[in-house]
Amino acid sequence: MNIQTCPAPTRKSRPPAVGHNILYRKAASNPCPGCGKSQWLVGRVVAECAFCETALPLEHGFRFSGLSVG
Ligand SMILES: [Zn+2]
Repeated sequence: MNIQTCPAPTRKSRPPAVGHNILYRKAASNPCPGCGKSQWLVGRVVAECAFCETALPLEHGFRFSGLSVG
């Protein structure tokens, strides 16, 4: 049996801090990045596309930031 282990996370493995940050904006039209349609099931934290289930975080949604590591 060959077990492969994931390498330990390093700072280099973190995603870059810049780039696109796609959010669901309540006051804007929100074309789905997955299928281009604009029918959303909006929850407390994310909005989910009704067609392809792509989930986007809400612009003013709940964000938990109470824990910090290190
Ligand atoms: Zn979609």
